[in-house]
Amino acid sequence: MPEEKKVVIKRLASAATIGNFMRDYYFELDEAMKAGDPKIAWCTSVGPAEILRAFGFKVYFPETHSAMLGATRMATDFIPEANALGYSPDICSYLTADIGAFLRGATPLEKVYGIKSIPKPDVLVFNTNQCRDVQDWFEWYGKKFDAPVLGVNTYRGVDEVTDSHIGSIAKQMEALVPPLEKIAGKKFDMNEFKRVVKLSRDCSLIWKKILDCASAKPSPLTFFDGTTLMGPAVVGRGTQKALDVYEELLAELQDRIKNKEGVLESEKYRIYWDGMPVWGRLSVHAKLFAALEANVLASTYCNSWIFSALDPEDPFNSMARAYTELFIVRSDEAKEAYIKKMLDFFKIDGVIYHDAKTCPNNSNCRYGMPQRLESITGIPSLTINGDLNDLRLVSDEQTKTNVEAFIEQLEEKRG
Ligand code: SF4
Repeated sequence: MPEEKKVVIKRLASAATIGNFMRDYYFELDEAMKAGDPKIAWCTSVGPAEILRAFGFKVYFPETHSAMLGATRMATDFIPEANALGYSPDICSYLTADIGAFLRGATPLEKVYGIKSIPKPDVLVFNTNQCRDVQDWFEWYGKKFDAPVLGVNTYRGVDEVTDSHIGSIAKQMEALVPPLEKIAGKKFDMNEFKRVVKLSRDCSLIWKKILDCASAKPSPLTFFDGTTLMGPAVVGRGTQKALDVYEELLAELQDRIKNKEGVLESEKYRIYWDGMPVWGRLSVHAKLFAALEANVLASTYCNSWIFSALDPEDPFNSMARAYTELFIVRSDEAKEAYIKKMLDFFKIDGVIYHDAKTCPNNSNCRYGMPQRLESITGIPSLTINGDLNDLRLVSDEQTKTNVEAFIEQLEEKRG
């Protein structure tokens, strides 16, 4: 058995700045709802946020709200409410927890910030690049609030992203403009759009630099930190404020690297995480790995908000490319090539695949990928069964036993 060490996970000072960013973001939405101005658009997490911001909408992301339901361990209680409406316990537990919470009149925003309700939408805009569930989710709320629902339907399982994919998606994005002009009550301003796309691109670049810091040995951050630090990249892309907080975070991480200061006291094993986090177990999992001197330091998940293709000089086409080149949209072959590159870059000893029961879209272990990658790279992997939000699908004992045995395997491999 690898020896369990005292757990020291060094907190980042800039995490507090990011916490304040998220608090302000939700307060601004609440104020906008109460004042009826600016108007509010709901957007999927990898939806066309830049177009919405260019119109001056305050943009709300229900997935981030549902992740809060998970992280506060409220989600599981609400899921049966949505099941009773006919939404299966096997579909996205972001959707079922979020709709269930709404039906019960509950939100973690109240517990965390004292905000009584989620912001009412003037329009809801989805992109199915991640899954079909977001469309169903938004359509339910569209009916509930009597608000228009617009969307982009993206190809899935894309191997090489071609001009024909880009042309079709860019056209769908441009087609959002006329109905949004009616809802916003103003003309679309191309210069403002380009400005927002540039800010979004810059946010994406700095977020990439932040995540790339984990390639240092020892790594100055963990994947579990990343899941909360990524808030501004999700809800704030396209704003100057997101860039400002990330400048501070990047400087702190670079200082740590300069001083060879790892986030863990001891980093013997470097682990890559594929798939969603288990939101209600972030701290438990962080401690479990840290106690085994294993740092889960990079992931497919946090990297999903890197949109390198964004180009303010060609905003619609580059948005179409950026939101189609995403990991979750791609074929297994393209995903495997990407993960292989990441395993080299982050100098990884082992891979964890999270098989999230209610999200097949973010679970990449079901069609032989771990075995194929292991045979090419020689890097061992472990699949853990669980879920993003539904804690009834998580077995803490089994996870602990399997992770301990996996780290032992890594130790034996080193000899
Ligand atoms: S990608 Fe998965 S977790 Fe995200 S909304 Fe779709 S089904 Fe839910």
